[in-house]
Amino acid sequence: MDSAPGPDPAEAGPSSKGESTAAPPPSRYESQKRRDWNTFLQYLKNHKPPLTLTRCSGAHVIEFLKYLDQFGKTKVHSAECPNFGQLSPPAPCACPSRQAWGSLDSLIGRLRAAYEEHGGKPDSNPFGAKAVRIYLREVRESQAKARGIPYEKKKRKRPDRSARGDDGDGDGSGSGAAGGELTVGV
Ligand SMILES: [Zn+2]
Repeated sequence: MDSAPGPDPAEAGPSSKGESTAAPPPSRYESQKRRDWNTFLQYLKNHKPPLTLTRCSGAHVIEFLKYLDQFGKTKVHSAECPNFGQLSPPAPCACPSRQAWGSLDSLIGRLRAAYEEHGGKPDSNPFGAKAVRIYLREVRESQAKARGIPYEKKKRKRPDRSARGDDGDGDGSGSGAAGGELTVGV
């Protein structure tokens, strides 16, 4: 009589809290990568006309990077602006802000890895497309000019470069010190 046949609270909820036997908490890089990937999937979902991952090309990736510029916080002066090429501009101006090249560069690296982790084939990886590399290089050069930063200076030989895998073509990928975070308004 004293054993109540009511539902066991332990099996009431499908979500077992606490004792997850899953992997340890993801690293900062891993969680950032997951966030970036979700941002990109969301972008595809909202794309007009709708776009699927398999139909995604380097051109779409560039479109995505341009779309992200609206959330950027890096001022990029136009050639007509008096602040063009000034490292510390004397007066504010109305030039638009963009995503810093370093942010985009590391973002592409993470998305490229995420694409293949989700079953994408390396040879059809849109994040590894040549057009994307060229676009990134143009962004880097234009930002370097506009902000008076000699980008050669940014190239530093760091031993951890090799950790980035196959991207070590001397394309300045070691300079993304401030580029880990992507600024996207939520
Ligand atoms: Zn300006």
